[in-house]
Amino acid sequence: MDPAAPLPAAQLRCTQCGAELHPDEGQRFVTCPNCGSAVYVDKTRVVFHWALAPTVNADKARALLAQWMAGNQTVKDLDQKAQIVSQTFEYFPLWYFKRRGAGDREILDLEPAAATSVTELKHLQLPAGDLQKYDPTLDAQAVPPTVPLDAALRWVAQRGVPAVEITETALVHIPVYTLKYAYLNQTYTALVEAATGRTLANIFPAKAEAPYVLAGCVTGGVFLALALIPVIAALVGDESSFGLGLAICAGLGVLAAPFLFALAAWVAAKV
Ligand SMILES: [Zn+2]
Repeated sequence: MDPAAPLPAAQLRCTQCGAELHPDEGQRFVTCPNCGSAVYVDKTRVVFHWALAPTVNADKARALLAQWMAGNQTVKDLDQKAQIVSQTFEYFPLWYFKRRGAGDREILDLEPAAATSVTELKHLQLPAGDLQKYDPTLDAQAVPPTVPLDAALRWVAQRGVPAVEITETALVHIPVYTLKYAYLNQTYTALVEAATGRTLANIFPAKAEAPYVLAGCVTGGVFLALALIPVIAALVGDESSFGLGLAICAGLGVLAAPFLFALAAWVAAKV
């Protein structure tokens, strides 16, 4: 059978009760007329369709973004230097694959079901008990899935998960605020997942590492030079020179330490 061809109607059955489904042409989000389950009709099969309810409102989303910007991953004072240029809300689709791992532990694999620049989405921890039946009133804010289930299954398989281990497959729409912000003439995108309030971003103005590396190299270089004093002294002088060199090395080391410490503190305060 051509996998791209739509399933015959007789094979479209509710995942919950098994009743036959008769979606309209092109209809993908379906509510079972028999049991009321929300299902998603993919080209290849029918799966449950869940949604997560938001607990975070628009103001709280901005506050969470500011909190993340003030954190340690991003450049210093990003929360004050960045300008939020837009904020939108939508339900973003994820493919949800549940399986049993070692010790009967449940493992969840997520794959984006639509295009996104924030691939961090698949590392979300979904609060499992909070999944609700997808409600058609969300349609206006829901991004339709554009990644076929088969493609998502291939991605999961590439990560070493055999399809046979998957015990539950579903489409989940998660509430997400997309915030765009400008910093130094560049625009960045961050997501605030509105069920748990987690902030996600792939690309952001990160703390520069070069100054830390430089400070580390300076410190290492100074102490290496000091350590060479007794070695050189022993090579060019007699046996007592080594002791003298050692004394000079220790003395200068004690003198240099506060300056090097101050350099490290200065770098930490600036970057
Ligand atoms: Zn049903």
